[in-house]
Amino acid sequence: MAVVRRKWTQVAAVALTGLLVGASLGFAVGLLAAVRTAQFFLTDYAHELVHHADDAAAEFVSVVNTLEQPQESFCSDQELKTMRALIYRSIQIKDIGRVRDGSLYCTAVAGRLEKPVPMQAPTMLTTSGNAIYAYARLYISPQDQGTILGHGSVNVVVTPFMMERWLRPGMNYMVVTMNSRTGQMTRIGGMSFPVSEKWVQSQGRMETADALLISRCSTKNSVCVVTEESKSVANEHSTPLLWGFTLLGGAAGCAFALGIAIAFSLRRSLPQQLRRAIRKNQLSLMYQPIVRLDSGQCVGFEALVRWQDRDGMPVAPNLFVTVAEERGFVSELTTWVIHRAFHEMSEILAAHGRLQLSINIAPADLASGTLLETLNAASAIEGIVAQQIALELTERSTTDLTRASHAILELHKHGYKVHIDDFGTGFSSLSYLHELAVDAIKVDRSFTRTAGTDAVTAVILPQILLIAQSLGLEIIIEGVETERQVEFLRNAGVSLRAQGWHFGRPMPPHLVKDFLEKHTR
Ligand code: C2E
Ligand code: MG
Ligand code: MG
Repeated sequence: MAVVRRKWTQVAAVALTGLLVGASLGFAVGLLAAVRTAQFFLTDYAHELVHHADDAAAEFVSVVNTLEQPQESFCSDQELKTMRALIYRSIQIKDIGRVRDGSLYCTAVAGRLEKPVPMQAPTMLTTSGNAIYAYARLYISPQDQGTILGHGSVNVVVTPFMMERWLRPGMNYMVVTMNSRTGQMTRIGGMSFPVSEKWVQSQGRMETADALLISRCSTKNSVCVVTEESKSVANEHSTPLLWGFTLLGGAAGCAFALGIAIAFSLRRSLPQQLRRAIRKNQLSLMYQPIVRLDSGQCVGFEALVRWQDRDGMPVAPNLFVTVAEERGFVSELTTWVIHRAFHEMSEILAAHGRLQLSINIAPADLASGTLLETLNAASAIEGIVAQQIALELTERSTTDLTRASHAILELHKHGYKVHIDDFGTGFSSLSYLHELAVDAIKVDRSFTRTAGTDAVTAVILPQILLIAQSLGLEIIIEGVETERQVEFLRNAGVSLRAQGWHFGRPMPPHLVKDFLEKHTR
């Protein structure tokens, strides 16, 4: 219970770490996306305001063109009428004035002035020679300020607030006129931002500690617009975006961390854990009965190794035996199994002189040359008779025929029996086995599963049985699970031994004695 709780605590910790890292990354990406989104809207806003500034400039040019036609005399009643009509039709222009020798003589709103009023020097001149009077005190309304644009003898007044009607929530703007030749820049509307003329002309974007700025310039006039949004407002607008990225990042991080952790624990720590478990005696053995098929009498047991990893999770023997083989320490495992099995079964083997104990041997055990030594040592310690021990070799062990025959000969010399495990799944042929002088074959359970059916393997099984019998080999049928399979095999006309769930599942050593008493006469 404690082990399971520890495992879940570890999983939760990994998942939480992944979640936090992923969420932080997601949040960072979200912030970046928020900045990009805000910049996109600021750019759009700047384009819109440049467009309106161009409209105002177009009206100014149209007014200048109309008044510079010499149709009416300077500041005549007729001309004033024309000027008033022009303001009435204009959206942006508040007043039009006429200038001569640097003095204002009349305006559409004030009419002819009693005395010409001298004009002050303009704030700047644009590249095309227009005069700009920024935030100038107005003759028609001295308490107000306006932007006056002058060309030759014509002046027009626009309000610095002309862009206010296109305000966008959370965003601010600044309208400037430029002279690219002199490098002069004058604000004629909106807020004042601390930006250089060079940056404005570059039409770039800027990120200060607390704000985002974008600059866009007109292609037709000497006007540029800078739009601005504070970062806190931009983030507020992008809250759903931030949440989305954070949640997505968290989920991805969590999945990624768990994936890495699983791969890591499986691939990296399994061999080390297994090695440690062998040295610390933390594995165990189960014993599965092998019976005579006709009588059901128990004639032997196969030792099957079991292991639970450090999280208390059972690991499949096929998996960890392969791991031990691949990492080159399967002989350590075999040695452990031999000593433990001989120790646990010595009494029973002594009491039942015809009983056989089967031990699984890996190909590397035959190659190592120490197997016989280990077997003899363990037999001596536990008082085991070699004839009661069967060593199960897989067909893979026999691929090097010379080495296999030599090893089998040596084992036989000392009295040990040799069985070929999982017969039919590898490359051995029956005659080849005869050369190897093995004592028995264990027919793989894939044949048992299809026995009596139409499958191809079902046709092969009777042939294997007949030839094995004619070669004088004992036959053990693996994986017998059903009464139907038992019936089929009993009718095969060959004397067989069998192993499988139908006769008994692998059991812990303390149950072996009990089983034997029930299944021997
Ligand atoms: P194996 O030597 O062929 O062992 C028989 C396997 O079939 C065992 O699986 C057993 O539990 C299973 N089995 C027995 N009866 C039935 C049945 O009726 N139906 C089905 N479906 N399965 C049945 P287990 O214990 O999982 O072992 C798997 C393999 O791991 C073994 O196959 C053997 O190759 C290897 N192994 C197990 N213990 C050791 C060991 O101590 N040393 C070595 N080198 N390999 C071992
Ligand atoms: Mg086996
Ligand atoms: Mg087998």
